[in-house]
This record gives sequence, C-alpha cells and structure tokens, in this order.
Amino acid sequence: MRVGILGGGQLAMMMIQSCIDDDIEFIVVDPSENPPADRYVSCIKSDFDNVDMLNKLSSACDVVTIDFENVPSSALKFLEEKIDVHPNSKAVETCQDRLKEKNLFKECGIPVTSYEKIDNLDELEALKSSFSSGSILKSRFFGYDGKNQVDLDVMDSETAFQNCGGGKLIIEEKVKFVKELSLIGARDKHGETVFYPLVENNHMNGILHTSLAPYNNDELQKKAQNYHRLLTSKMNYIGVLVIEFFLDHQNNLIANEMAPRVHNSGHWTIEGASISQFKAHIKTVLGEKIANVKVDKHAAMINIISKMPDLKLLNLSSLEKIYDYGKTERNSRKLGHITIVDKNRKKLLTRIESLTKFINQKVC
Ligand code: AMP
Repeated sequence: MRVGILGGGQLAMMMIQSCIDDDIEFIVVDPSENPPADRYVSCIKSDFDNVDMLNKLSSACDVVTIDFENVPSSALKFLEEKIDVHPNSKAVETCQDRLKEKNLFKECGIPVTSYEKIDNLDELEALKSSFSSGSILKSRFFGYDGKNQVDLDVMDSETAFQNCGGGKLIIEEKVKFVKELSLIGARDKHGETVFYPLVENNHMNGILHTSLAPYNNDELQKKAQNYHRLLTSKMNYIGVLVIEFFLDHQNNLIANEMAPRVHNSGHWTIEGASISQFKAHIKTVLGEKIANVKVDKHAAMINIISKMPDLKLLNLSSLEKIYDYGKTERNSRKLGHITIVDKNRKKLLTRIESLTKFINQKVC
C-alpha cells in the first residue's frame, strides 16, 4: 500500500516511523528545505497546490492524508476526484476556520464558549465588553500555538485588531477552566471509533507544554467520546481526530478546537499505548479496522520549545525517550519532545518536574 502525506513535519515523520515494519510506502510532499520526514523518505519539494505533483501523487498512492490542517482545501478537493483523501476536504476546511468549527460544535450540541464574528474595529468596540469573564480575540484562520490571538484584558482594541490580522476574526468569552483536556479517537470506514483515554494538557503562552495520560474520569470520558462521535459522523470522517476541551468548574467539557490529524497531545501513545495515534491514523485511512487500544501505564510528554537542551546532560532512563525533530532553533518553535512512561504516577510527576526544570533552564 502507498500513502501520500501532504506536509513533511514531525507528525508525518512519526506516522512513517510508526509503520516502519509494515508493508506501507510513503510519498511525502513539503515545500520546505529538509523537513523532519526527510529522515525516512526523500520528500518531494513542491507547493501543495501544484497540479503536476497532485496528479503524480494521485496516480501513485492508494490514499492521501495530511500532517497539518492548513493544506489548501482546493488541493484536497482536486485529489478527491481521483482517490481517497482522509480527512476529507470538507472536514479540513471546517477545521481551518475557527468560526465554522465553532458553528459545527454548536450544531452538534457540543458546548462552546460564547463567540461572535468580528470583521471590523467597530464590531470589536461594540462587543469587547459584552463577556463578563473577559474576552480573547483570535484570527479565524492560521492560528496555532497561541499565534494570532490576544487577551483583550491586556491590549487595546486597535492594537489587538491589527495584531490578529486586521479582519476575519472571532471574539470569544474567556473560559475560567480547571483543566485543559483532549480526546484522541481514530474512526474507521465503518464508522467505528477507537478512543484513547482523555489527556490532561498544560499550555504555556498558548503553546502545549506537557501532556499527561490517562486522565481517568469515566463520566467525562463518555461525554467526550459522545461529542467526538457526533462530530465525526456529521463530517463523514475517517482517521484520527482530536478535540481540545476546557473543563470548567461545573464539570462541563467546553470544546475549544479540533484537529483533523494526529496531535501533539497524543505523542505519548507511541510508548504509552498498545497502538500509537500515528499507526491508528494510517491504518484507518487505509481502510483497516483497529480492534482496541490498551493503556496500562501512565505516560507524559514534555515539549522542547525554542532551544534544544544538551542531550548528553539529560541522563534519560529506559522509561524515557527523546525525539529530536532536527529543526533549527527558533523562538516558540517545537523542536522535539520527551516521553516518559511509568506505572507509578507519583514518580512520573516528579520526573516531569525535574525534566521540565532542566529543559527550561537551558532555554532561558
Ligand atoms: P487555541 O489556539 O485556541 O488552542 O488557544 C491556545 C490556548 O490559549 C488554549 O489552550 C488555552 O490555554 C488558551 N485559550 C484559548 N482560548 C481560550 C478561551 N476562550 N478561554 C480561556 N483560555 C483560552
């Protein structure tokens, strides 16, 4: 079988890595120089909407998938005329636009924070004080890792409006959350979904810093799975989809956003689960069924951001593994991560603390 991937970042790299012992070939397209997936396959250097490349890809592959959601949906639509594309263009298009995404959550009966579309400064002035717990202004498009979003308590409207791109924005009520959780599920072509346990996530400056799994809570797990099923069946979705939630003080799950792909909060599944999110994604987009997912230990993932620490000084144990994406250092860029697994949650938490201190020390 041959899988095409649009995007050669670390997610594509780990998808390929996870299937190294399977009879699956990958063709990866990325416009950048030396993307992380180059380590396993020689990536085709091309823009995603190059028709020649798309024609070649469609004749060579059984299915095409993505490693990031900002692939032009026109490219996916073009491919869909010829071969299977998962996730489908409509789902990707929805996830690219925070407004469409929130509207879909609402349509499915999934709780979201209050929000409004903002297209000009007058609309922002009129709405900025209408949310009692404060508000966040976000660009509808191309916002990730806290980029293109501003807390309106700390910035005047005009600067915030310009900083977020000067149009096509959304204003959201700030959620007073207890925790941030995510749910990863892989849906197959028969509409069956295998779920991972909820993951607890900590962000720093809008960027995911650590993930910890499992977050054991049967009631919330059930609720989150129900929301996931509603969304994926509405979108006719195949593959891994991740929903990020806020957990509020009344024990409600409030959907923040979703990712139509494997997700940073699921990197721990390589070491911490019987099948990783990466393999689950590739198997489901290829039309295979996944029996179930077993998680019998605690696992954590710590992102390495901006600066790579001296790996020789890390002294990792056999329960810990470092991933270096081979990227050049840049402020706020994800350069790698460390996964830790342990049967003992307390020991795991202590280790997260010391590794985080070490990594942050080297960053500052
Ligand atoms: P996002 O790009 O929407 O995933 O936002 C990045 C991070 O900013 C989230 O993980 C939260 O920590 C924070 N954040 C975003 N939207 C809100 C909100 N409406 N209320 C409170 N915190 C938020």
